[in-house]
Amino acid sequence: MRVFDVLIVGAGAAGLTLAHTGAGAALPGAGAPEIALLDPPVGAARPKDRTWCFWEHGAGRWDAVLAARWDRLSVVAPSGARQERATGPLSYKMLRSRDFTEHVRTGLAPNVHPCTATVTAIEDGTDHATVHASRPDGSEVRLRARWVFDSRPLPAPPAARTTLLQHFRGWFVRTGEDAFDPGTAVLMDLRTPQPRAGVSFGYLLPLSSRDALVEYTEFTREVLDDAGYDAALRRYTGRVLGLEGFTVTASEQGVIPMTDGRFRTRVGRRVFRLGAAGGATRPSTGYTFSGIQRQAAAVVRALEEGRTPVPPIPHRRRHLAMDAVLLRALDTGRLDGADFFARLFARNDMRDVLDFLDGRSAFTRELAMGVTTPIAPMAVTALERALLAMRPPPRAP
Ligand SMILES: Cc1cc2nc3c(=O)[nH]c(=O)nc-3n(C[C@H](O)[C@H](O)[C@H](O)COP(=O)(O)OP(=O)(O)OC[C@H]3O[C@@H](n4cnc5c(N)ncnc54)[C@H](O)[C@@H]3O)c2cc1C
Repeated sequence: MRVFDVLIVGAGAAGLTLAHTGAGAALPGAGAPEIALLDPPVGAARPKDRTWCFWEHGAGRWDAVLAARWDRLSVVAPSGARQERATGPLSYKMLRSRDFTEHVRTGLAPNVHPCTATVTAIEDGTDHATVHASRPDGSEVRLRARWVFDSRPLPAPPAARTTLLQHFRGWFVRTGEDAFDPGTAVLMDLRTPQPRAGVSFGYLLPLSSRDALVEYTEFTREVLDDAGYDAALRRYTGRVLGLEGFTVTASEQGVIPMTDGRFRTRVGRRVFRLGAAGGATRPSTGYTFSGIQRQAAAVVRALEEGRTPVPPIPHRRRHLAMDAVLLRALDTGRLDGADFFARLFARNDMRDVLDFLDGRSAFTRELAMGVTTPIAPMAVTALERALLAMRPPPRAP
């Protein structure tokens, strides 16, 4: 049976990024890798269309398919005080999953072999792993590969001391009159009613003066029901933004675990986890797309250098430790989340905050930022976490 060099399970953001990056790799002494890419047919296992936002310095590899980009961002405090800043050389970019998928799939190199099949089992081995899958017609398929990267969502987040959910619903709205400034995206509008523990905020991505994606987001333990999201969005668009007479042309919704649990990316001799399932999500923000890009680049480097291509967790340890403190401070209700984020953006250069959230900041900058946040609740929580670390580690849910 043919043995692929690489087999990727799942053609979402992580799977497609790895296929796209890996296709051009040069394996030591062997040329380009033969890559199999497995994704189920349209149905329950396939994620719904979504938009991914991320920021980067200058031009980037997905610029040709962006839906929008902004070079000004704002954050609005609960009081209504607005911090609006030019972010150059950083740009905030929006990519629709549909456009990204089409772009990557239509440009796949001949050494990438897509296959519509639902993976049912992965068998590890010494020299290769075997992937079992079923095709849409019910027939079974068995494929072998030297390295298998599995990006299927985990059934549950890993065991953790603190897990919050970033959960949100967004409406694509169209207004009858000019209502938005297409030059500025609103990263956090904290004028929403705040939960007892955690934080809530509005998020506004204007696509023209009359079109925008408006979201209501919470970092809390429990998701809302449909009526809860719709009520929150009606309140935000009506009372806070003062929008009248708009139509909702589409909507999107999601839940992203924000956890201090440890993700394992190596799950066998030949099998690895990738993407959100492989710890690519930054725990304090839920942003994952940039982490996925760094993870895929590191895997391809390892393949080219002939090393075992274990996907790294694409966040620094100290950032994960800081995020763990923040998550716990929010979850205990000790930290006023809206005040925390408002202060963070008001007292620091927005570019520094964004660099920090993307893992690019220097430690000294981070210390300077740290002292602009409420020190007491963060210090108490850091101490509490240090004490908790002496207890046995948490067990998987
Ligand atoms: C609505 C929404 C909006 C988001 N917005 C942002 C954002 O703006 N910025 C950001 O950085 N992050 C965002 N995220 C978080 C993160 O970027 C996304 O969840 C992203 O899609 C994760 O990519 P992934 O490839 O790891 O997982 P997924 O995109 O979920 O891909 C998993 C793949 O596995 C496949 N699969 C599932 N079961 C099987 C099976 N049995 N066999 C084979 N394949 C299988 C699926 O078809 C899918 O293609 C958002 C998340 C959601 C839900």
